[in-house]
Amino acid sequence: MNSHAKLRLLGKIARFDVCGYPQALVKHKRSERFSFIYRAVGEGGKFVRLFKVLKTNQCEGNCYYCVNRKDRNFSRVSFTPKELAELFMEYYTSGLVEGCFLSSAIYKNPDESQEELIETSHIIRKKYKYKGYIHTKILPMTSKELIYEASKYSDRLSINLESPGQNWLSKLSPNKNFARLISKLREISNLHSRKPLKSGLTTQLVVGSTGESDRAIMNLSTKLYHEFKLWRVYYSGFLPIKDTPLENNFPCSPNRELRLYQADFLIRKYSFTPEELPFDKNGFLPTDIDPKLAWAKLHPELFPLEINYASFSGLMRIPGIGRISAERIIREREKGKIKTLETLKKFGAVTARSRNFITLDGRSFSERKTSSKSLQKQLFLWEEI
Ligand code: SF4
Repeated sequence: MNSHAKLRLLGKIARFDVCGYPQALVKHKRSERFSFIYRAVGEGGKFVRLFKVLKTNQCEGNCYYCVNRKDRNFSRVSFTPKELAELFMEYYTSGLVEGCFLSSAIYKNPDESQEELIETSHIIRKKYKYKGYIHTKILPMTSKELIYEASKYSDRLSINLESPGQNWLSKLSPNKNFARLISKLREISNLHSRKPLKSGLTTQLVVGSTGESDRAIMNLSTKLYHEFKLWRVYYSGFLPIKDTPLENNFPCSPNRELRLYQADFLIRKYSFTPEELPFDKNGFLPTDIDPKLAWAKLHPELFPLEINYASFSGLMRIPGIGRISAERIIREREKGKIKTLETLKKFGAVTARSRNFITLDGRSFSERKTSSKSLQKQLFLWEEI
């Protein structure tokens, strides 16, 4: 198989590693020809085209859900580090990609596979003098020395925890140990606090195949943000893969994945605690409305809030008002009272959602039902809504 055919195959497989865009919001179709180009989301919701490909799909692991598992019968191919570095540079210089995401299955053992990823990034940096973004995946149980080595050439490191605890991890990846993965993550986090990575440290969880609750996921994510200083936790909705032990399991609903991203946003940017999130008695978020709106509906005692006097943190809790609009409201109301929904709209508030929870100069607004279609539209939280 030539390099470009390998690239199409290994790029297609790499899509199972996500970097932050809920499937419910994906509008574009991935091209077969450019399966290795991944539209990741950067801060502020900006798209970044990443060259995202596995170095190899030959794996010693046999995780129940994984496309690369050892017992699966399909073509196995590998790049050499030189070949992969050359391919990346070819697409980077042609302007088709803006950054690089290096990942791999575990061929032979974690250290040998990790060394090859490091060699690839080393060639890209030293031979081609590339100064842009490199994200390197740390394979489970990679040695401390190699993690340090990988960090020298990377803007971001990530290690996949896959599940929020051992019970669930055993149902996905029976040979992996949650406590050991967490201790690896701690090693990387300690390294990051001594020698900060430009784009931090991330992890990925596979959602929806082992009965894990949203509460368990959000409790873990909160701990990862606070204790481990993670940049982001990514939630990858489970997709059954043919010829794996989990092939007959149902896929995760895209809406569940979306609600997890929104709940995550509330924790990272809106100071919500996991206890405040609107879980049902089984620990799941509602899938029909976003968690901020669901939370507000559960707390009628806190609303309506008078926009002209509410504190910044109070404004941030109103559905349809985000950080940017709250800041503008605080600035603008010093010049004069805000009296109309139209004015509030000009400050970036989504008044169709906030109107039921506010007063403007003492005036309240009649209840208006928001259509589920417009709710879907309003839920893109990266844009500070
Ligand atoms: S170790 Fe990684 S690549 Fe290999 S089967 Fe498990 S999840 Fe897949």
